[in-house]
Amino acid sequence: MGKKIQDKKTKMREQPPEERIHNNLEVPYGYSEKEAVREANRCLQCKKPLCVNGCPVEINIPGFIGKIAEGNFSEAIHILKEKNVLPSVCGRVCPQEEQCEKMCVLGKKMEPVAIGRLERFAADWEAEQGEAPLLKRKKSTGKSIAVVGSGPAGITVAGDLIQLGYKVTMYEALHKAGGVLVYGIPEFRLPKKIVKREVEFLCRMGVELKKNFVIGTVLTVDELLEEHDAVFLGTGAGLPWFMFIPGENLNNIYSANEYLTRANLMKAYLFPEYDTPIARGKCVATVGGGNVAMDAARTALRLGAEKSLIIYRRSRKEMPARDEEIHHAEQEGVQFNLLTNPVAYHGDSRGEVKYAECIRMKLGEPDSSGRRRPIPMEGSNFKVPVDVVVVAIGNSPNPLIPNTTKDLEISKRGTVIIDEETGKTSKKGVFAGGDVATGAATVISAMGAGRKAAKAIHQYLTDGKW
Ligand code: SF4
Repeated sequence: MGKKIQDKKTKMREQPPEERIHNNLEVPYGYSEKEAVREANRCLQCKKPLCVNGCPVEINIPGFIGKIAEGNFSEAIHILKEKNVLPSVCGRVCPQEEQCEKMCVLGKKMEPVAIGRLERFAADWEAEQGEAPLLKRKKSTGKSIAVVGSGPAGITVAGDLIQLGYKVTMYEALHKAGGVLVYGIPEFRLPKKIVKREVEFLCRMGVELKKNFVIGTVLTVDELLEEHDAVFLGTGAGLPWFMFIPGENLNNIYSANEYLTRANLMKAYLFPEYDTPIARGKCVATVGGGNVAMDAARTALRLGAEKSLIIYRRSRKEMPARDEEIHHAEQEGVQFNLLTNPVAYHGDSRGEVKYAECIRMKLGEPDSSGRRRPIPMEGSNFKVPVDVVVVAIGNSPNPLIPNTTKDLEISKRGTVIIDEETGKTSKKGVFAGGDVATGAATVISAMGAGRKAAKAIHQYLTDGKW
């Protein structure tokens, strides 16, 4: 390897757990310039960089890291932005350990390069310099695109097509743009000002943003097609799943979607400045083992819960949440009831939940997801006292658009069926990508799908072929 390389990633300083559970400020502080340069110098600048193969949007990773190592931060962010319109978001919430960092050659003998932390550093450095310079726009094509949804997929499509000279209108159902980035991911993991800045950048580039505009009610997709030359559906997966077990309709049992929306978008965490109704239980149980479950369990602590429990039916090894999120939740005192599943909820005379009746589970053979299947242990039922429950077991797309759009093929799971390479749906002129097509997945995979769809929309509007 030649140069002597520090075997561990340069540490990122963070708020101590005992302090941060009393506020909503971001947990990690990010690298200083000195720390970023030190970490960037761990990169070997491989001729065939395997890390790039692990990146869904093919960022020139050694390129931007090399510029950080030289102290040329403005060039680093320039390289990043060639492929990624949301580096400040991806640097924070992408599962790098499963993608670029997993492929990094250093990982064979030591810790991989902290690619995500460096991405975040470059984006934050740019934000500190003031307004980001606008990207070049090609001559107007005279054609117009409707982007439905302003989450990661929609933002990527809008960003790519505005640069190619299209008129882009982004329709957002809520009163703030950003989709899951603002209603789902908590402030302490992704500060809202970062998303706001990215959306404002798009608007400065010329994207028209229409908020409080629900497609499927205010206008249908067919009506959008009368006004625009193509439509992109990036409406995400906002329909929460429940377990359909007895007592699940009791008061103070929330879907994670509702709980996090109240806490984040509706700012329940800023009480008493914002008096958003939300149950602030002493003992909050969150059912599920993904990032959303960790977000809800950690949010409960910040809303004043004395005890925040995770109830998950498999073991820690099978948990889909990122290691970093599980680690942060553990540090903050979230308790993990693993190999446990609720089978019913019991309430009091006011209809408020008081107990989760759970059953112990054991692991069997791997199922279709490759994870070992949880099997209930008959007769092992026991009661867990709770006063709030958050169900975080997954989401599927909202059926509003499928129900109001003729000729749009939908899968049994409720997702819009697309050609994976182009995002084309069964309906001419309509493209889709991100969670609405795949079911709930990652920010970066939604952005990757948006990029492919933007390319295909441009192709379709150039040659007219469907
Ligand atoms: S694989 Fe690792 S060491 Fe090689 S270029 Fe990528 S980040 Fe640098």
